[in-house]
Amino acid sequence: MTLIATVRKDRAEKRRVPSHCQKCGATSLEGKLYCLGHVEDNDYVKEVRTRIERREAELVAVAEAGPKAVDLEGLVVREIVGLLTAHGARSVGRLAREVSIDFATMKYYVRRLKAAGWIFQATEVRSAGTICLTGAQERACG
Ligand SMILES: [Zn+2]
Repeated sequence: MTLIATVRKDRAEKRRVPSHCQKCGATSLEGKLYCLGHVEDNDYVKEVRTRIERREAELVAVAEAGPKAVDLEGLVVREIVGLLTAHGARSVGRLAREVSIDFATMKYYVRRLKAAGWIFQATEVRSAGTICLTGAQERACG
């Protein structure tokens, strides 16, 4: 009971204590280092933005240049491998939807990952085209 009351009191005080934006000096909300107008100067926000821009640049490069532009260490490959690891076999179309990239670009990723030996595509009629990670899940993929 006392602990909850203390936390509430701390929050209420934090809200009341005026903080100032490190960039322009304007009053910021709840002790934040930046005002709403300069929130993009926050290191975390910058990092997220850089990652998103890098991902978009890679997608454009892969769409234009094909499998050779795929970055095996990149964010998109990590997303694909993460999905296959967590949820198992998937069709190319489903992978494309889940990673939010277009089907044609996903086919380039699949080609590159197959060439690298990271994934394989099932050939059994029932699951033809299904993508699986190479290794532990091979048997489940047919
Ligand atoms: Zn500011």
